[in-house]
Amino acid sequence: MREGMMGEGPTREGTKARIETVAVHAGVHVDPGTGAVTQAIHPSTTFERDPDGSYPRGFMYARNSNPNRQALEECLAALEGGAGAAAFASASAATSAIFLVLSPGDHVVAPTDAYHGTLRLLRETFARWGLGTSFVDMTNVAAVRGAIRTNTRLVWVETPSNPLWKITDIAAIGEIARRAGALYVCDNTTATPVLQSPLELGADLVLHATTKYLGGHGDVLGGVVVSRTRDEVFEGIRAIQASGGAVPSPFDCWLVRRGIRTLPYRVRAHSEHALHVATFLHEHPRVEQVHYPGLPTHAAHDVARRQMKAFGGMVSVQVRGDRERALDVAAKLRLFTRATSFGGTESLVEHRASIEGAGTRTPENLLRLSIGLEHPDDLIDDLGRALS
Ligand SMILES: *Cc1c(COP(=O)(O)O)cnc(C)c1O
Repeated sequence: MREGMMGEGPTREGTKARIETVAVHAGVHVDPGTGAVTQAIHPSTTFERDPDGSYPRGFMYARNSNPNRQALEECLAALEGGAGAAAFASASAATSAIFLVLSPGDHVVAPTDAYHGTLRLLRETFARWGLGTSFVDMTNVAAVRGAIRTNTRLVWVETPSNPLWKITDIAAIGEIARRAGALYVCDNTTATPVLQSPLELGADLVLHATTKYLGGHGDVLGGVVVSRTRDEVFEGIRAIQASGGAVPSPFDCWLVRRGIRTLPYRVRAHSEHALHVATFLHEHPRVEQVHYPGLPTHAAHDVARRQMKAFGGMVSVQVRGDRERALDVAAKLRLFTRATSFGGTESLVEHRASIEGAGTRTPENLLRLSIGLEHPDDLIDDLGRALS
């Protein structure tokens, strides 16, 4: 595979490469100088000019771009089927860059249950900056339509959403955003490009916390914005990336790119294991309710089936009992580590109400599970023992 080939759609045979192939090859090529098959890490902050002052290799200064970030961005754009990608030091930095392309006085429509860091940016930082936001239940299409104003410039969705894994109909909300002439952004972190393609369903931009499944090993923080077209908005985000400077290090880029090589296989296993665990919990007498879009009892199971290839690795469970009972079950688990975040190879459990603090609307008896790559029967044994 040659550079650029995967990012530009059709392969030599004229067929579009499948995601497993893209995950292995996009942005990767044998180093012409050394023959190295795996890309080297380039810590250099600066790059040589030609005598005429030009930079024929395309690199000048590492904040603007560098070989590891370029390889990662090519790969991320190809995975989502976008025209370009901009990588950041975290998804929160990527989210800020999207809001910064708007102007004070603009209006945003965002979900009540967006990632808590996104909510905090809108409620605190960007509210002070002059951005107005209406927070709505994205599963209620009429409510979204009713929230649109003449100055609405951006509609934000996140699906499945944390921690109840509610499903937003990406195409339906996209139609509302399109009619309003608003930028349409989908946080695709939980589903990953393996399970869901928001750009094909009408999104202009896709956001990822590469910290989660794309990195996949709980050892690197990162974020990315992928754009359907190389338009003014994308160029604006690129400018904020370079001038704001919230960029990932070459080593961070290299780690995320390495994680992506196995992404399709990991996500398939996470999804399969999560469905096993969710089904087990759903039938357990000491469980009140299970939240997982793969269960036929989920309120939007049909929408999930339509827009997702499988249902992902995140499951929430409300145990029978109160906060103390939930904390007790979490304490008895051996394979699940009590920690925040998700998307790594190891299973994690989190009492969401505790981390969200005062004013949380998350039920006190809810535990959020990030289902890892351990054998699902071992996870089920662990959960059964902790619940008994
Ligand atoms: C973790 C997460 C983020 C933020 O990611 P950071 O890299 O920690 O800034 C944003 N959106 C979703 C859905 C997340 O899970």
